[in-house]
Amino acid sequence: MSKKQFKAESKRLLEMMINSIYTHREVFLRELISNASDAIDKIYYKALTDDTLSFDKDSYFIKVIPDKENRTLKIIDTGIGMTKEELETNLGTIAKSGSLAFKKETELKDGYDIIGQFGVGFYAAFMVADVVTVISKAVGSDEAYKWESTGAEGYTIETVEKDSVGTEIILKVKENTEDENYDEFLEEYRLKSIIKKYSDFIRYPIKMDVKGK
Ligand code: ADP
Ligand code: MG
Repeated sequence: MSKKQFKAESKRLLEMMINSIYTHREVFLRELISNASDAIDKIYYKALTDDTLSFDKDSYFIKVIPDKENRTLKIIDTGIGMTKEELETNLGTIAKSGSLAFKKETELKDGYDIIGQFGVGFYAAFMVADVVTVISKAVGSDEAYKWESTGAEGYTIETVEKDSVGTEIILKVKENTEDENYDEFLEEYRLKSIIKKYSDFIRYPIKMDVKGK
């Protein structure tokens, strides 16, 4: 008897995942901040073994930038960044958890939970955003890339300019509907309380920079 693989409709699966795995939409921020923190961990570990890299604690941080005028929320980190190939494999493969492998390797187990283990954390962004843009420059790379997706329809990748190593996630926050409020994810006090609630244990500073009040 030959064993056959299940076929999965990734578009439907993604919709299902986005709408059912998380009880509270607000956890998208926890997922993105945890990825940012993982990325800084990775550059930290690399710096330990790579003499060409120095780890200056002050230059490693996470920044959250809400912009009401443009309806964007940015999450910026000074972590290890992603190459073009890494953008493809890490963000293009649903439920492939790169961090899980990394954490197994390094036994860095604090703060990772069941959702993190399934490698779907990043896609939580689509609960609150119509478009997700990821601009990243990998350590040791001269080039930076922009990955962009509206969720189910797939993604595009192109070359962009970025001076520093790290990753910038830009969420185009959804418009409010009759039943759902998304404006709250552009409010400074709301974001601060979500960060306090879910990301208090993060070991790098989380800074906030409010644009277009
Ligand atoms: P997990 O964190 O469990 O691996 P995610 O869906 O949250 O799953 O993220 C998928 C992968 O995308 C990560 O493992 C990581 O390789 C990559 N990634 C996501 N966000 C970032 C980031 N800010 N910097 C570098 N790599 C990232
Ligand atoms: Mg994650």
